[in-house]
Amino acid sequence: MIPKTHPRYESLKKREKLVAGLEAGITGKQGLIAHGRGEAFDYLIGERTLNSARKATEAAAALLLIAQKPVISVNGNVAALVTKEIIELSKLINAPLEVNIFYRTEERARRIKARLEEQGAAKVLGDKADARIPGIDHARAKVDPEGIYSADVVLAPLEDGDRCEALIKMGKKVITVDLNPLSRTSRFATVSIVDDIERAMGNLIAIIKEKKNGKANLAALLDGYDNRMNLRDCVKEIVDRLKEEELLEL
Ligand code: ATP
Ligand code: MG
Repeated sequence: MIPKTHPRYESLKKREKLVAGLEAGITGKQGLIAHGRGEAFDYLIGERTLNSARKATEAAAALLLIAQKPVISVNGNVAALVTKEIIELSKLINAPLEVNIFYRTEERARRIKARLEEQGAAKVLGDKADARIPGIDHARAKVDPEGIYSADVVLAPLEDGDRCEALIKMGKKVITVDLNPLSRTSRFATVSIVDDIERAMGNLIAIIKEKKNGKANLAALLDGYDNRMNLRDCVKEIVDRLKEEELLEL
């Protein structure tokens, strides 16, 4: 048990969730390493939601509410860290969840689907993933013809750069959550939320609930959003924080 008073409580809880996910056969071993890269960026960010991330989250909410056919892509880390949140989001915007894992084994995909269904997910795709994302090698390219393959907007948190680029080339709008503002994923996506997955999902759900009934300004919100500019603002916020002198005074 980690005491709540521990200064790294939130961070340690996330690690515990991932280790539990690994032990349950949901999270891949490589997922633990990917999380470590994310943690390093979160340290630089200050483990909070930056203004630029909040703006990106608002744009993402607008995009999801305007979408004709949104789909939420779920991998092993997402399933371990934000199970309840993605199920809630899926119901809020009426978008199916699709199990889509990078190091695909049918067994792990099946386990993730079972976990989501146990926790109350209404629609989980991904076990009939017989369509392919063009330009990606076989196992990683598999998607559901009823899901990601035919979606107009894909929320793909913690996605890989190659797949993000390939989805964009298919003409889809892609929303990512990735703590690394320099990753290929962040640079290719339509809207990149540079924030921790737990914080990002909490914010996204809150914003969608708020905007759901007044859809009027959504298009304007999106028109005013420039992802490259937002990533620049994000890096600037990180650098400005690191320049603050008191950060070095222990
Ligand atoms: P890319 O393929 O986009 O160039 P990469 O190869 O460096 O990036 P991957 O291993 O494909 O990265 O994906 C992991 C990404 O997910 C990392 O960029 C990391 O910052 C991010 N990440 C890991 N854990 C979290 C988390 N809890 N919240 C948000 N982002 C995270
Ligand atoms: Mg990658």
